[in-house]
Amino acid sequence: MFRISDSDIHGIGWIATCNIRADTPILDEKVCIRMPLGPLYLPNDPSGLKLLQELVSNLSEDQRTSLLALDGISLLDKIWTNGHCLIDHDVDPLGVGTRKELGIYLKCARLNHCCQPNAARASDKDDIMSVVSQKPIAAGEEITISYMDDNLAVTADRESQMQSKIYVGKFWEGCRCHLCTSPEEVKKVSDARRRRLSYYRDELLQGTMSKEVLVTEFLSLMEVEGLPNSLMGTAATMKMVNLLFGIDMRTASQNTLDSISFDKGTRVVLHKLKARPELNGKTGFVVHPLNSKANGRVGVLLDLVEDTSKPIALKPENLCLIRDGNR
Ligand SMILES: [Zn+2]
Repeated sequence: MFRISDSDIHGIGWIATCNIRADTPILDEKVCIRMPLGPLYLPNDPSGLKLLQELVSNLSEDQRTSLLALDGISLLDKIWTNGHCLIDHDVDPLGVGTRKELGIYLKCARLNHCCQPNAARASDKDDIMSVVSQKPIAAGEEITISYMDDNLAVTADRESQMQSKIYVGKFWEGCRCHLCTSPEEVKKVSDARRRRLSYYRDELLQGTMSKEVLVTEFLSLMEVEGLPNSLMGTAATMKMVNLLFGIDMRTASQNTLDSISFDKGTRVVLHKLKARPELNGKTGFVVHPLNSKANGRVGVLLDLVEDTSKPIALKPENLCLIRDGNR
């Protein structure tokens, strides 16, 4: 399904060798080395390096060669830069903490980061790492995941998050994913969406706004921003919302669409339009509320679209509410 070869993002990565549908399991991989995190925080303590050298000496020749080929100027650096935090699923069902261990997965270590990734990885209680596509991936396209702890971070904050993940900083020259190498204007729009998503996330967990409506807005805007719901942080938010309010965000989105009223003047952002995809992400406001005579469509007048001086009729599922109208 993929080959490990030259990447446009960084060094080598996973390149799809066929078209992959969304939600396709791509690889399950066993952990190669498990290393306690403690010694990694103390690079000058010889006991950490001694333990690591012992672990490496137990590997097969092929495994050792693959491990030594990973990014990093020293053995400890390679483990830090390429390791995956192993989660104790029994102790930490939300998946936000760690077991204080890093796992090295030789193939998964080659997955590059993207700020709008098309796949996600997760390890289970047996430390098997599964990589699953989150969007359709075309043959020849790079398969990417997110390394971020906070996937809603704006451009500048993502840079500092990534810096902190690199042991000596040597191999980090700024994110070169398609979003971070986009024109400034594109990044500004993305940053605005991410600030709004962070606000929604806080409201979902601590605010007083209707959770049902927020869930729909949150998930719709995640999709417009090109972020899968499985991302770290978001997945934990979904579990928390389920725990605190009994709302299953994975199924709630569609169920609550009917209950949203698109009143006159409501600000909306368009998404999931197949016939006119160029309008996805555009904003406007409702001029004709939901009308059963017009096949249940809503009349929307778009902002800043020259050839659309008249309202266009759209289905509610192609609209995402904007609350405070300042976008
Ligand atoms: Zn990026």
